[in-house]
Amino acid sequence: MSIDYNRHPCFNAKVKGQFGRVHLPVAPKCNIKCNYCNRKYDCVNESRPGVTSTILSPEQALTYMDRVLEAEPRISVAGIAGPGDPFANSAETMETMRLIRAKYPDMILCLASNGMGLAPHVEELAEIGVSHVTVTVNGVDPNVVKNIYSYVRDGNIVYRGIQAAELLLARQLKSIAKLKEHDITVKINTIAIPGINDHHIEDVAKAMSDLGADLFNCMAMFPNADTVFENIPEPSKKQMASLRKTAEKYLPQMRHCTRCRADAVGLLGEDKSSEMHGCLSACASLPKATDTAKPYVAVATLEGVLVNQHLGEANRFQIWGKKDDGYQLVEERPAPLSSGGPQRWQNLARTLKDCQAVLVNDLGNSPKETLIKMGIKPITMSGFIEMGLEAVYTGKGFNKLKSRTQKCTSKGACTGGGTGCG
Ligand code: SF4
Ligand code: SF4
Repeated sequence: MSIDYNRHPCFNAKVKGQFGRVHLPVAPKCNIKCNYCNRKYDCVNESRPGVTSTILSPEQALTYMDRVLEAEPRISVAGIAGPGDPFANSAETMETMRLIRAKYPDMILCLASNGMGLAPHVEELAEIGVSHVTVTVNGVDPNVVKNIYSYVRDGNIVYRGIQAAELLLARQLKSIAKLKEHDITVKINTIAIPGINDHHIEDVAKAMSDLGADLFNCMAMFPNADTVFENIPEPSKKQMASLRKTAEKYLPQMRHCTRCRADAVGLLGEDKSSEMHGCLSACASLPKATDTAKPYVAVATLEGVLVNQHLGEANRFQIWGKKDDGYQLVEERPAPLSSGGPQRWQNLARTLKDCQAVLVNDLGNSPKETLIKMGIKPITMSGFIEMGLEAVYTGKGFNKLKSRTQKCTSKGACTGGGTGCG
């Protein structure tokens, strides 16, 4: 790989007139609620983070990337900055980064996150070659942080107040430390909110410098309508200049941020978002990964007749396809070695990426979500494989399969390495 990292216009102000970036809006969901955020999806005129005119799938994002480069060859960075958080949509984010890296080996890959769900993905980001990550850190004291967020969601649990603040902060600090361990360039965005955290910016800059962050971008809060902070006035240019000067004692400052939309494209001072709007919408209406790209069905089976294994138990999957007069076994495919955590299921989904469904006795919520996000439908059932294949390929008979499910009752006795299906 021969990537020239100096071509990043956000991290290197000297090249902002020569190189541009494209934001790929593949991440609609968010896992926290900032009191200044109002995400709109359909306003092409509004220019601020969190706003995009449409959402793309990873495959659509790759097509959009092709078209953007035809129109603006000076694009050197592909980034994901929402409109939600890249790691509240980790399957789409990682898939998009992989697709872009495979087709454009010289492209700088960049992500902007609130840091809540980032840490478990850092190894994979490094492996793909994501070189620049921005983490928004608005405070390093939970008593300050608690006033900035309405809630923080971790899986199905929602935290508020001081608990939310402590959890978010712990995740952010861990994420930044891990990014630096993997030699990834880290920019910290801090939103200055008058009366809430503007007295605390120096503490944030110092703590981030101690963690090894590379660049600090102190941004003025924009009072968005219909938000908790809508009546707090935007800090003045003078206030911002003073905050940046103080923060500069600890970290180099970014002073040329243009507060980009989640679908921004072009050079920082020469935005082409409106111009590319038609192209973006056209890409969003392209067919998603279709059944022609996913002709097969994976099956968790011991002997090739019955569906009789849970997802986490299967150390190999049979891959079945359709033929004129029925179904045929195409091959057996080993499951990737268990690496633990969500990555295990992402690796499995990649192994089965040409399969539209997987037939299993049972599976946990975490793999279920990952498989669905990556376009593989998990079908829980027991009994003859052919019955499951018939349901998948004809779209009929799913109800009959439901009554034939065998729930996982023995995680301790699981033969899938003891890691269960969750
Ligand atoms: Fe990365 Fe932010 Fe620049 Fe986009 S605007 S390329 S997310 S640093
Ligand atoms: Fe909005 Fe971003 Fe905050 Fe999520 S992290 S609530 S998308 S500003």
